[in-house]
Amino acid sequence: MRIANLSAEVSPFAKTGGLGDVVSSLPKALAATGHDVDVWVPFFLEAADWFRRRGTWPVQELDPFDVSVMGAPHRVSILGANLPGTSVPVHFVAHDPLFHRPGGLYAKNEHGVDDGIWRFSLFVRAALEAMKRTGDRPQVLHTHDWHPGLAPMLGAWSSWRDPWFDDVASVLTIHNVGYQGIYGPDRLPVLGLPPETWTGGLVEHSGALNMLKGAIVAADMVTTVSPTYAWEIRTAEGGAGLDGVLRLKAARLTGILNGIDREVWNPESDPHLAAGYSMDDLRGKHACREELCALSGFEPADPAMIVGSVGRLAPQKGYDILFEAAPELVRRGIRLVVLGSGEPALEGSMRLLEAHFPGYFKGFVGYDDALSHKIQAGCDALVVPSRYEPCGLTQLYALAYGTVPVVRRTGGLADSIIGLHGENLDWATGFHFDDASPHALAAGVLHAQSVFFHRDAWSRLVRNGMRADFSWGRSANDYELVYRRAREVRGLPW
Ligand code: ADP
Repeated sequence: MRIANLSAEVSPFAKTGGLGDVVSSLPKALAATGHDVDVWVPFFLEAADWFRRRGTWPVQELDPFDVSVMGAPHRVSILGANLPGTSVPVHFVAHDPLFHRPGGLYAKNEHGVDDGIWRFSLFVRAALEAMKRTGDRPQVLHTHDWHPGLAPMLGAWSSWRDPWFDDVASVLTIHNVGYQGIYGPDRLPVLGLPPETWTGGLVEHSGALNMLKGAIVAADMVTTVSPTYAWEIRTAEGGAGLDGVLRLKAARLTGILNGIDREVWNPESDPHLAAGYSMDDLRGKHACREELCALSGFEPADPAMIVGSVGRLAPQKGYDILFEAAPELVRRGIRLVVLGSGEPALEGSMRLLEAHFPGYFKGFVGYDDALSHKIQAGCDALVVPSRYEPCGLTQLYALAYGTVPVVRRTGGLADSIIGLHGENLDWATGFHFDDASPHALAAGVLHAQSVFFHRDAWSRLVRNGMRADFSWGRSANDYELVYRRAREVRGLPW
């Protein structure tokens, strides 16, 4: 099948979180089973820097052309490269005035205004125009999150739809319902959609323009990144205001757990580690632990459990809960190492804890891919305190690295980690806690600590986790079924 992915992120060129990882590893897995897959992303400054650091540059795929947004022409180029080590093409939509911006992929413009709707409308229009120019029409357009939401809307089943879509089914994957692309009603002309998309309720939601809502309504199939999250987003508690829309879409909504890219996350071959290791020979993990101790200012000979965490410092991720529990955990002899960036207040908490508990709490503020691998390998346990978690990848990486996850039982964390409850040591892979509170988190980590000192039991957990298979194979098959269903829904053959 011919599948085109549209996304704001793709790893390793431009990534802030799991979205970038998935948009890289899912196409690779689908290509490995014979599908013809490619990826379209904006050519952000981060991607340009990625190529510059390596002394290379993507090739120009098409002559520059103009794309119109609100009647004004914008000149774009289409550049191309492959996902590293694969033959999966990535097409970059280059328009420096909008995409070459310091401060991160989703930074506001120089006037402090969130112009995401502009940037991503231009991206979608340019990508579709390029597909039309090359005559390369996909059978399925797979869009990720709200950013390319204009694409399924342009193909919505309506009198004004773009006839190019008559042979193209659309699939939307919601990686996080908390990010919706909400703008004022006056932004509608930026999308270039007719007024009935507002009055008819396609993009309008509670009086605002809501990109994710429009994409949900328009897409032939909607997926999200774990079965539990597919259920949670249909509840008032988990739907972030879109639960009603998602309930209406229930028959065409399904949850598919993310996998991990074993070429990137494999302790046997990971170039970032002090030493490689596997389930059969864990000696290298000790070397990784020693290196992490050196980096964190921890005493390497101290046998105390080291608990790590890697993630965005956003309210969703629950780091405030972890930081509130930290003094109690340190008092109980646990060492904590956290890598994260985001909310300044949480970054400040990390610095404060580090100043208070040197040798016991280490906070790395920033985004550092190599360090995230070292933390996964060097820790004994990994804590994921999320308030909600669509899928979560760090707990899956931890399993692969023999690091035992302690997770809040929500979304994909509940689906991927089997909590130890006393009588399931043969198959448990980690620890659960339920409440989003410092007390519950501390209880979960202390439960892990109590098992940590029983070396045999702990090594059973480590091995159960390392044996678990979260490679993309099975999930890629499930996506293939969704693509087929999307074409069926649209009355198209596959
Ligand atoms: P989300 O997509 O909500 O951010 P996930 O757990 O699905 O959460 O994916 C997070 C990804 O981003 C993982 O690959 C994780 O290692 C990476 N990551 C998050 N924060 C950082 C950071 N500060 N430095 C390096 N990698 C990070």
